Amino acid sequence: MMPIRFVVIFFTLLLMVDCSNPVPPNEGDPSQSDSSFTIKAEDQCPVCGMTIQEHAKFAASIELKTGEHFFTCGPGCMVRCWVATERYLGHPQQAIARMQVQEFFSGRIMDVDNVVFIVGSDFIGPMGRTIAPVDPKHETTYLKRHGGDQVIQLRSLDKEKWEAIQKKF
Ligand SMILES: [Zn+2]
Repeated sequence: MMPIRFVVIFFTLLLMVDCSNPVPPNEGDPSQSDSSFTIKAEDQCPVCGMTIQEHAKFAASIELKTGEHFFTCGPGCMVRCWVATERYLGHPQQAIARMQVQEFFSGRIMDVDNVVFIVGSDFIGPMGRTIAPVDPKHETTYLKRHGGDQVIQLRSLDKEKWEAIQKKF
């Protein structure tokens, strides 16, 4: 008989594989996610002033190298912070250490560098139609179900590109 510890390791590995490969079937149910942001009642979007807790499932997170931390109400306001960092966060863009979003299908917290943002789809955030953060593995499924005409990386955006994108909404 197999020693019990090998059995445990085997099932632990199975679980890990399962978690790292979410399939997109049921959409937008962050309650099924095993991780979530710790949002406080007083957290407000630095761009629009919206209370983050009211729209928790859209919240995005920005951490600065100084240790300061911000939540935006959704991916749209996160981009606004990225293209006008001084204005909204009071620091230059280089001060940003990490930006994270909640992936559309799984609700998982993912680094912006590991997701793509879909422009022009039917995704609606707290501020209206906006870009949707999607795991690249599920890009095709997303486009098929929700439309969209452009796929971008957040860090490739500047003010001009963002203004052009906003005209599509
Ligand atoms: Zn906002």
